[in-house]
Amino acid sequence: MDLTWIEISKSALTNNIQQFRKIVGPEVLLCACIKANAYGHGLLECAQVFIAAGANWLAVNSLYEAKALRDAKIEAPIYILGYVALEDLAEAVELKCRMVAYNREMIEKLGTINKPVKIHIKIETGNNRQGILLEDLIEFTKYINSHENIEIEGLTTHFANIEDTTEHSYAELQLARFHEAVKKLESIGVNVPIKHCANSAAAILFPKTHFQMVRIGIASYGLWPSKETSEGIHLQPALTWKARIAQIKTIPAGELVGYGCTYKTVHETKLAIIPIGYYDGYDRGVKDGYVLIHGKAAPIRGRICMNMLMVEVTNIPEAQLENEVVLIGKSGPYGSEQITAEQFADWAGTINYEVTTRINERIPRLLV
Ligand SMILES: *Cc1c(COP(=O)(O)O)cnc(C)c1O
Repeated sequence: MDLTWIEISKSALTNNIQQFRKIVGPEVLLCACIKANAYGHGLLECAQVFIAAGANWLAVNSLYEAKALRDAKIEAPIYILGYVALEDLAEAVELKCRMVAYNREMIEKLGTINKPVKIHIKIETGNNRQGILLEDLIEFTKYINSHENIEIEGLTTHFANIEDTTEHSYAELQLARFHEAVKKLESIGVNVPIKHCANSAAAILFPKTHFQMVRIGIASYGLWPSKETSEGIHLQPALTWKARIAQIKTIPAGELVGYGCTYKTVHETKLAIIPIGYYDGYDRGVKDGYVLIHGKAAPIRGRICMNMLMVEVTNIPEAQLENEVVLIGKSGPYGSEQITAEQFADWAGTINYEVTTRINERIPRLLV
């Protein structure tokens, strides 16, 4: 029996992709970002549902993820967003992966492999993470084009601050630099077929960032890129994280609970022990959080342990051994009570992205 598992709603994932199809229209490619184990939702499970729902491309961070997709017979175009080591480039080419390019060394190596490969030039527009400087673009492009087997399929960049819709001047600056890159390439007769820069927030908020493809991550899972972005599209969260109660007991008033003795019971207290801890990805930093049991809030008592946590169920008399516990998601007879990833992120002092991606990969993901 699984003591913890994650239910992924197929209809929610499908809805989210279809919502984006409506926003971008029939022509723009939808690239679903499934890096980080599909933001914790399950790589292969999500890949299949996204493709069936109408996503055109899949984006991963690393070669091992691309390999897992190909091993599962997924034939959709795969775009690797992260770095591929020079010695692994041949394998990436073999797996027919598109790759992001910003190093001369990579191009040189791809040239020696001498098999057809499609690359996407990444421009530095202000994130100052990955990408080549605008002033180096023409020289880099000419160098790429001196290799017959390498095709420049894409031109791309990534926004640093598009989620904050109250202030988009920095995003506008980045977009202007991206347009400048397009012009520079046109000036030397290079017309790149797939220009793309939009993540979820940009795709939702700024149609002028759609170009030929959008790369949607967090919103594909029904989560919002930021508080400011929660409008204009009807998203459904797909993930529910569940576990089972491992013990119930009643302890007297004045007892201390957990490591560090941080919680003291103020009255006779019924505790439930949940077999989930920070190893599973339940953030140890959670303060004032709760879980849902029979649709009711059971507050966390004491510190989160490595493999366990304790909650108070004094007010949930029906709670019994092995009953279901909801850590994230909906609970109760009508799913009326809910712990969102955003709520959890507030408890842990982080963002929803980190909350779901941190959920341990060995926990089963079940499509429902
Ligand atoms: C992860 C990622 C995305 C998706 O971002 P979301 O905010 O989750 O939509 C898009 N582009 C790049 C380069 C990424 O790394």
